[in-house]
Amino acid sequence: MSTNIVVLGAGFGGLEVSTGLKRELADDVSVTLIDKKDHFMAGFNKYDIIFGRENTIRKGYYTDLKKLGIKFFQDTVTALDLNGNRIVTDKQNIPYDYLIVALGADLAPEIVPGFTAAGYEFYSPEGAAALHQVIGSFDGGTILISIFDKPYKCPPAPYEMAFLLDDYFTGKGIRDRVRIRILIPFPRTIPVAPAVSDEIERLLKESNVELLTRHRVVGLDTECKEAAVEGKEPIPYDLFLGVPVHRVPKVILESPLGAQGWIVVDRDTLRTSFENVYAVGDITDIPVGGFAVPKAGVFAENAGKIVVQDIVSRIGRAEPPERFTAKGACFLEVGRGRLLKLDADFLGGPEPRIVLQTETEGSVSKQNFVKERLHRWFGYAT
Ligand SMILES: Cc1cc2nc3c(=O)[nH]c(=O)nc-3n(C[C@H](O)[C@H](O)[C@H](O)COP(=O)(O)OP(=O)(O)OC[C@H]3O[C@@H](n4cnc5c(N)ncnc54)[C@H](O)[C@@H]3O)c2cc1C
Repeated sequence: MSTNIVVLGAGFGGLEVSTGLKRELADDVSVTLIDKKDHFMAGFNKYDIIFGRENTIRKGYYTDLKKLGIKFFQDTVTALDLNGNRIVTDKQNIPYDYLIVALGADLAPEIVPGFTAAGYEFYSPEGAAALHQVIGSFDGGTILISIFDKPYKCPPAPYEMAFLLDDYFTGKGIRDRVRIRILIPFPRTIPVAPAVSDEIERLLKESNVELLTRHRVVGLDTECKEAAVEGKEPIPYDLFLGVPVHRVPKVILESPLGAQGWIVVDRDTLRTSFENVYAVGDITDIPVGGFAVPKAGVFAENAGKIVVQDIVSRIGRAEPPERFTAKGACFLEVGRGRLLKLDADFLGGPEPRIVLQTETEGSVSKQNFVKERLHRWFGYAT
């Protein structure tokens, strides 16, 4: 009889686990993948929506996973019954032998007063689409970009937004009328990586983007169009962009898995303290030094690969698995077609190691990154 594996969430982590297990174990496993959406799209494609580059976006449709022998249900997970080894969705109950939780992080824009009424977020496809309309008609003034708090997905992403805005308004011929200011609560752009911060901060200066460190925005005054900053004078804006506070999904908080908030896992194997239950990706918290493994697709898929190896070895068909190292390469567009590649290894050594490389073919590298994944997960042509 085949082992019944259920994977919650079909993002970077869930897709890597589902497809990897099916590839490795074929008919020895039945793999069921559940997601409330019907397709996958990479996080950085939000920029393509915002800046009208929709023709570069490639999506992976979950129904295509059927060809690989993966069962997909477009359901919303509503409860985890860890004693009864079953998942409850809005449509059905699903039993499991092994469970992998890869539900990502929820966005909570409502936490900062005034933000949903007067600000724009660029972390969801809907937010990106709304922003596309707004920047199209923006013809000058001050744009504030704020990171409210950590943790948040893809730590360099808000700086990328600033570089792309610089490019966009330069292209429109109105850059001299647009002031771009970034407000962050941290002392550096990427606190865990001083050398990377040096380079990002140098490039921001070069792009005439102001960086205000140790500025935590705690609310927006929608009448006066001012951002309230903890312990400092309010800062006026014409357009306010924010990275919403990230939250543990409610369904996890309501289950014993969420007793400590973000799911705690064994950092080598991604096992939780519940039998045969793993968690990967943004939904986990893996401390490293005074920091944590960043919430990023590359680390979610890296974790997914380790879970595949661990399950394969438990079912008795392979060597003992490698341990999770949180390795991966992230891309950061820095305007004028340039791209920085950040090669990171968070857990492989005594401290996180991030090496910076400069590439030129900006959007081409990013498109190839997506094509490789869609080929690996969905079998699409590269
Ligand atoms: C603007 C931006 C740029 C980024 N750039 C990069 C980058 O360059 N490189 C990089 O590595 N990462 C980047 N990221 C981060 C990356 O997108 C995330 O870290 C990654 O998607 C996390 O993968 P995951 O599998 O943990 O979760 P997700 O990919 O978020 O997947 C979680 C899935 O669970 C589903 N789900 C959630 N709750 C439920 C429920 N109750 N029922 C059913 N389904 C549910 C969701 O629909 C979703 O499909 C970026 C993110 C943003 C926003």
